[in-house]
Amino acid sequence: MQNDKSNGCYFCNAKKTSMEHLPPKCFFPKGKRNNLITVPSCDEHNSSKSMNDEYIKTLFANASEKIENDSSLISLLESSHRAMFERKSRFRHAILNQAKICIEPSGKEVVYAKVCIKRIHEFFNCLSRGLFFHQHKKRFEGKTKIHIHFLEKDTDQNILNLFNQPDISGDNRDIFYYICTPQFGDYRYFISMCFLNQFKVSVGFL
Ligand SMILES: [Zn+2]
Repeated sequence: MQNDKSNGCYFCNAKKTSMEHLPPKCFFPKGKRNNLITVPSCDEHNSSKSMNDEYIKTLFANASEKIENDSSLISLLESSHRAMFERKSRFRHAILNQAKICIEPSGKEVVYAKVCIKRIHEFFNCLSRGLFFHQHKKRFEGKTKIHIHFLEKDTDQNILNLFNQPDISGDNRDIFYYICTPQFGDYRYFISMCFLNQFKVSVGFL
């Protein structure tokens, strides 16, 4: 039965072709993969977005300010380097297309890469809809609004307070946890997520 909810993609309800890990399995180092969340997915919403998965992984690995002594971050950095330097890497090509190499007065070369907000939004839109599906066994049909707190200067204190609630989900919390809040401000539903104990993102469901 194609329209059976258990057989439909978490995002678009097309026929399921695989189970998608949320967040992607490659974010979790070996030994920190307890009860990973999976949802039914079509091809378009699983394998075709692997470039976005690599992009976010690389962003976290390189944006972190406290990488020393953090084995999870080091493992993330190593795996993002592997994706970057494998032969004919489509991922490297995509990143370098966004990058500019500048020469400082001292002669030092510095690579500047613009953050690709579109990829970040696509990634968190998929992830939050997948978590909603996992929690409620149905798709969310409305719009989402994504707040990328780790790229903001100031974050609303009411949103930050949500991260301190006791009701936290996720079995590998030093890699990823999330908190679901029904009704928050103008939103019908709100998911607060934290990666690697430092990268916070919230998604409001309208
Ligand atoms: Zn789909």
